[in-house]
Formats: sequence, structure tokens, C-alpha cells
Amino acid sequence: MSPSPSSENYDAIIIGAGPAGSSAGALLAEYGHRVLILEREKFPRYHIGESLIPFTFQPLQRLGMIPKMKGSHFVKKYSVRFVQPEGGRSQPFYFFNRYDKDTIAQSWQVLRSEFDQMMLDNAREKGADVREESSVTRLIMDGEAVVGVAVTDRAGRTYEVRAPITLDCTGKEAFASNRNGWRERDPFLNKIAVWTYYKDSKRAEGLDEGETTVAFIPHKGWFWHIPQHNGMVSVGVVADGKYLTRDGVKDPQAMFEREIDENLWIKDHLSVGRSTGEYWVTSEYSRHSRYCAAPGLALVGDAFAFLDPVFSSGVMLALKSGQLVAETVHAGLVDGDLSPERFADYGAAMRTGVENMRKLVYAFYNPTFSFKQVIDRYPEAGGDITDCLSGDLSKDFSRLWSQFREFVPIPDDLPYGEPLVATVAAK
Ligand SMILES: Cc1cc2nc3c(=O)[nH]c(=O)nc-3n(C[C@H](O)[C@H](O)[C@H](O)COP(=O)(O)OP(=O)(O)OC[C@H]3O[C@@H](n4cnc5c(N)ncnc54)[C@H](O)[C@@H]3O)c2cc1C
Repeated sequence: MSPSPSSENYDAIIIGAGPAGSSAGALLAEYGHRVLILEREKFPRYHIGESLIPFTFQPLQRLGMIPKMKGSHFVKKYSVRFVQPEGGRSQPFYFFNRYDKDTIAQSWQVLRSEFDQMMLDNAREKGADVREESSVTRLIMDGEAVVGVAVTDRAGRTYEVRAPITLDCTGKEAFASNRNGWRERDPFLNKIAVWTYYKDSKRAEGLDEGETTVAFIPHKGWFWHIPQHNGMVSVGVVADGKYLTRDGVKDPQAMFEREIDENLWIKDHLSVGRSTGEYWVTSEYSRHSRYCAAPGLALVGDAFAFLDPVFSSGVMLALKSGQLVAETVHAGLVDGDLSPERFADYGAAMRTGVENMRKLVYAFYNPTFSFKQVIDRYPEAGGDITDCLSGDLSKDFSRLWSQFREFVPIPDDLPYGEPLVATVAAK
């Protein structure tokens, strides 16, 4: 379909077709709204973020994706395990010791190119218009309000589309937050990640085949080891930039290979098989938008907030925010009122989830902290920690944070996430 120059109108425009954009798009289309999803890349496209935590189940269920996930070849994930630098392993934390085995307790390790394609196809099937290779280059303003976007297509043609609400689901690009100066770095979580894929390396079998392993290296750095289908393993190392680049090492492969020696379990598992030869790096990836919404605009998924990936919460939060924002937009379209104030509950719910996970991440990186010391003193904390790690992030964890504070400082909530009801700077 070739879009007409400047006359197109939709009920909602969605920028970005990652988990946030395609979930919001699917649900709004299901409600019968006219939705346009604009995606810069041609799918399937590569993306990091492959391990799904248990509470991803509910948003996937709401989207009707569970039968498709069950029918997929993604490796089933039942547990997480922690490994010390000298190779000592914790017992596996099996999710089915706490949750229903046939639903929440079984998650998946996905290939994001395939998972995101499935999610986008789902949005299409429910009636969303999707345009790939279409970059949004500008938000169109009418006074204070965003009233549409300017798009450049694959052929370099630029056109405009209008809608009463635009959802920024642009991931780490954080389109609106960057352009409006709303982006805040997390004061503490400034890590670097370097990762690659191994083929035919050592992996567990049976129930533990899809286990996520978090393998520690010195100075609170860690490896992720995420087995995927086709004999591939996603393996990456996360640590302070200063530590990973010590002695002037800047080459990603050299950084990665040096750390292999720092964990004997990783060394053993990567001693057979080989890397695909491609290495990815990312830095400074924890950040927050000061606002969740502004006139004509709402921020969703990573474009709203993104946390250090140590507990694999990103895709769950993106899907959940896509779902919550879609419910808010649907109600607003029905009532004919999409004012920013209507997104206050959405913003608060997402910030609660992000802040709960953020407290856990801060504790994790404190050199003196261990979950075990908390559980030894407060055995009942074990269940709360499992719930938080599994993504039950709307639960009240205030008792747990008081218990944590006896061991390490826990950060206060950041003052972000309310809707902006005042002027939005046009860019
Ligand atoms: C090292 C690392 C490891 C991670 N591991 C995990 C993990 O194991 N589990 C987990 O759940 N999460 C993990 N994450 C987090 C996860 O990747 C993200 O939280 C998740 O992808 C967020 O989804 P999203 O839809 O918000 O954004 P994205 O998935 O990034 O999607 C955004 C989309 O917007 C498109 N886009 C951007 N700008 C424009 C534009 N101007 N116009 C049109 N389209 C645009 C992009 O092409 C992209 O397709 C990890 C992240 C990192 C950095």
C-alpha cells in the first residue's frame, strides 16, 4: 500500500514494533480501533533480550499468544541457577516450586527475531496496519499536543500521519524522551555488556536444558548463559565499564574472552563449540523518562524506562506496559478524552514495577549483599524474592525492602513517571 501524502488519519499511531508496540497495537486493533504501527526495520530483525521471566505469561495470554508459544520451537525455561567464579553452583530455582507448572512456571528462551515477528503477525491478524522500513523522523505538534508523526519510507519518501494519540514504543532510541530532554540516567546502574552466540557448546539436558545461568565474575560482574534452540547459546558478560576495559582493552572479543577465564563453569561450558564470531556491545543502558505521557503522546516499554537486564525483566515490562497503555487508550477513545491525566494510573503502575525491580538490582550489585543472608534471617523473604525475580511486580514488597535495608542501602523511588500536563516542546 502506498500512503497518500498528508491526509492519513488513525485512532492511534505506534512508533516501533518491538514487544511494547506490537502488544499495544494488537489489543487496540482487537478493540476495533484503527491502528498504524510504524517500524524502522524490516522484520525479522536481530534484537537482544531473549530470556522470558514467568510473569510474562499473563500478558502473552491476554494477547492470545500462549498456543503459539507452546507450538513454537523455543526452548522451555523452568529455572534459574547462580554459579560462583570458582564454579560452585546453587541449586536450580525451579519456578514450579511456587507457581502452577502448566502456566506461569514454564517460560521460554526465545530468538527475538522470531518472537518479535510472531508478535507483529499477531497484531496484523487482529487488524493493525503495519508498515516496516518506515522511520518516524518527527512528532507533529499542534500547540502543546502531538497530533501525528512524519515518516520516511524505504524509498526515502516523507509523509505525515495523524491521530489523537501516538505511542512511543521506540525502545532504547527513546524517541520522545530524548528529543524533549526527559531522559534521566540511573545514577548508579552504568554497566557495559558484551555478548556473542556459541554453537554446540556444553549445555544441560532434560528439564534443565533451558535453564538461565547467571555466572559471577569478580567485582559483581556476571555472565548470562541462555540456551536456545538449534544448538545455540546466547552468552554475554555485564560489568562496570572500568573493569571490562581495564589495561586499555577495548576490542569486544578480547574483553569477552578475557572474562571467560574468570568463571570456571563458563570456561568449561565454552571449552567446546565456538562463537559465531560476532560480538555486540552496549553501555549505559539503565534510564528513565521523567514523564509517562504528554498531550497526544504516551511512552511505552523501554522508551519509558529501561533497567539493567540482570533479572531479564525487559520483555515482560514491555508487554505489560503495551497492554496497560492499550487499555487506557481504548477507554480514552471511547470517552473522547485522551488527556495526559488519564495516563496517571498507567505511569504509576509501570513505575511501581520498575522501582521494585530496581531495588532488587541495586541490592544485587552491592558487593556485601547476598540473597542468602536475607533468607537466613527472614525465611519468609524467600517467597517474596522469588515473586519479585519472577516478575510479579505489582505486589507490595515493602516488608521485603525493610528487610533488605538491614543489610544494604536500598534506593528510594525516583520522582519520575507522572504525565506532563504542561507545555510539550515541539521538535
Ligand atoms: C544486554 C541486554 C540483555 C537483555 N536481556 C534481556 C532478557 O534476557 N530478557 C528480557 O526480557 N529483556 C532483556 N533485555 C531487555 C529487552 O531487550 C528490552 O527490554 C525489550 O526489547 C523492550 O521492548 P520494546 O518493545 O520496548 O523495545 P524494542 O524491543 O527495542 O523495540 C523498539 C522498536 O522500535 C523501532 N524503532 C526505533 N526507533 C524508531 C523510529 N524512529 N521509527 C520507527 N521505528 C523505530 C526499533 O527498530 C525496534 O524494532 C536485555 C537488554 C540488553 C541491553
